[in-house]
Amino acid sequence: MKILFVFAHPEQRSLTGALRDVAIKELEAQGHEVRLTDLYADGWKSEVDRADFPLLRPEERLKPVTASHDAYAQDALTGDVKAEIEKLLWADALILHFPLWWFAMPAILKGWVDRVFAYGLAYGVGEHSEKRWGDRYGEGTFAGKRAMLIVTAGGWAEHYAPRGVNGPIDDLLFPINHGILYYPGYDVLPPFVVYRADKLDEAGFAPIAEDLRERMRSFATIAPIAYRRQNGGDYLIPSMQLRPEIGDPGATGFALHVDEGKPASRTLISAVG
Ligand code: FAD
Repeated sequence: MKILFVFAHPEQRSLTGALRDVAIKELEAQGHEVRLTDLYADGWKSEVDRADFPLLRPEERLKPVTASHDAYAQDALTGDVKAEIEKLLWADALILHFPLWWFAMPAILKGWVDRVFAYGLAYGVGEHSEKRWGDRYGEGTFAGKRAMLIVTAGGWAEHYAPRGVNGPIDDLLFPINHGILYYPGYDVLPPFVVYRADKLDEAGFAPIAEDLRERMRSFATIAPIAYRRQNGGDYLIPSMQLRPEIGDPGATGFALHVDEGKPASRTLISAVG
């Protein structure tokens, strides 16, 4: 497979940096072709602003959605964004690798998504009708491609368990896995999470690195998270509510959007430091 690996850590000698090297080496050993976007090393500009839309006239009000649509349609996005889009279209798969900062991705990576996932590429794709609501959530530009997160976290695994005080890790990562990756069509693999990362010593690195290598060996074959397809019949159109007969009537929350009946895994493969 051709894999775009997006790395977001300010320090090359970090644990995250060491795990990146392990992952890429193993992927290449498996015959995959990997291209790396190293956001801090590249000096990636994270904020969306007028400079992103060179065709916008000074007197024009900036409407980010419209500006993104027009710039993408006219091939007038900035060179850094166009280069990332070219890599995304080249790749069969996308890996986002970052430390968990305030229960989310570092701002520089969020800014990569904000700027690169343009209107017409990652959203605003497909037609609305009585039978479908555009191409999103399992359909879209990246349908048929795989995506996955590699995350390090300071907190304990127990604190991210279903009843843990931090909230379940599946829920915390849902906005990224479902909202950013599944939305434009990717099949999203269960994430690889390292817990208690700050407490790790050199002796603890080897087993985690081996877990990650093992995970990279199954990257092309492991079942994705069984998110429900928007246009697959589980949701009412146009309200996009899950049909009342699906799931427990009183149930709410992110887990409802995973089809437990599908032959797919949502199990986290985690290394606990
Ligand atoms: P590093 O600091 O680079 O290394 C961690 C440890 O690994 C060090 O002790 C290092 O010696 C050791 N190590 C072992 N082997 C190696 C090797 N081969 N190479 C390098 N180092 C090695 N955590 C949460 O759980 N939830 C949060 O919401 C959260 N928010 C945060 C917000 C901010 C702003 C920050 C700075 C941290 C936050 N954290 C949070 C903690 C954060 O997730 C961890 O600090 C981070 O994941 C550790 O990864 P790292 O690559 O930065 O580790």
